[in-house]
Amino acid sequence: MKVHHIGIAVRNLEEALATYRALGLQAGGQEEVPGQGVRLAFLPAGEARLELLEPLRPDSAVGRFLESRGEGVHHLCLEVDDIEAALERARQAGIRLVDERPREGAHGARVAFLHPRSLHGVLLELWQAPRQGGTAPPHG
Ligand code: ZN
Repeated sequence: MKVHHIGIAVRNLEEALATYRALGLQAGGQEEVPGQGVRLAFLPAGEARLELLEPLRPDSAVGRFLESRGEGVHHLCLEVDDIEAALERARQAGIRLVDERPREGAHGARVAFLHPRSLHGVLLELWQAPRQGGTAPPHG
């Protein structure tokens, strides 16, 4: 496992991108993930990346997070080879799952979230790369 990205909740994606670009990071393209209710952009940083997340709707998970906590680090994401196996392992360990099954994330990846109450306050995302031969670009 390695850290794939760190998700950061922001109110305005363009403004946040401008800020992080000013630090010297470069952004890949933007993408909407309606299933998660967000518009996002990845900024590569070494082997990992920052994921800036702007809610599409106030009642989305990120929208509710912004409402109650304000902008800031939202989740940590670990890359796994086999997300089904990783979810099963978490289930066996008694960790509360947000997603019983993987769902589609940005760029066609498969993702699933684990509940912060089981992980010492950290919302954890598991991320499995899109299958080879897909149309997704290699980043994100
Ligand atoms: Zn994420």
